[in-house]
Amino acid sequence: MTLRFSVLASGSTGNAFYIESEQQRLLVDAGLSGKKMDGLFGEIDVDPSRLDGILVTHEHSDHIKGLGIFARKYNLPIYANEKTWQAMDNSLGKLTIDQKFQFDMDSIRSFGDIEVESFGVSHDAAEPMFYTFRSNGQKVALVTDLGYVSERIKKTVEDADAYIFEANHDVEMLRMGRYPWNVKRRILGDSGHVSNEDSGLALADIISNRTKRIYLAHLSLDNNMKDLARMSVNQILAERGIELELHDTDPEAPTPLYEVSTVTERV
Ligand SMILES: [Zn+2]
Ligand SMILES: [Zn+2]
Repeated sequence: MTLRFSVLASGSTGNAFYIESEQQRLLVDAGLSGKKMDGLFGEIDVDPSRLDGILVTHEHSDHIKGLGIFARKYNLPIYANEKTWQAMDNSLGKLTIDQKFQFDMDSIRSFGDIEVESFGVSHDAAEPMFYTFRSNGQKVALVTDLGYVSERIKKTVEDADAYIFEANHDVEMLRMGRYPWNVKRRILGDSGHVSNEDSGLALADIISNRTKRIYLAHLSLDNNMKDLARMSVNQILAERGIELELHDTDPEAPTPLYEVSTVTERV
């Protein structure tokens, strides 16, 4: 009886996250075309017709591109907060009333044996929120698309078995890069995305002895590299005496289904 998950895709070209327990199969965001979503599920050998529902983090297209199509194809309920519904409703196409559910920010909702907690993040969307998943004493935290990591967020996501955590850009690469200044300012600001360095600093505060697995997520294609992200975050963790292998995510390929272990691997 454990949680298993896969980061199906991560990055500004499209995001999707899958998590399952014995009883439940949940998708968070469907930011790629319906066809690509099917392909990603195929790669991890999960049948999307067996999903129980889709949770939405926010209305940016890299999180909802395939949402309407996918929900219609498999007749799935969608859960999002009221402001996110208002912001995305017109772009989803036709959905039936029994496909639309409200999941408020800063609330807890049970999906079978998975308890999902939502929490707000500072990001330039209507009411962006991310989630932690609890089942059988295990905890998985999904945290991307945030401008900065507040103490409140840290408190909510601390002490998890596994993290999918944003490491969006290398500040120097972004500064030197070709983006116009207003875009740079957005990314670097409190409502944009978290840098490698800030990601490392936040992780150093929130991980605990029970943390076994970290995936660095939502890497910028232009302003980051997998090696650089891992190295930067690793260095900050090492300075705090934390040694943990960091795992990559990819915009095109899913991470293998990972089963949260009940055994503590670190001391
Ligand atoms: Zn976003
Ligand atoms: Zn995003």
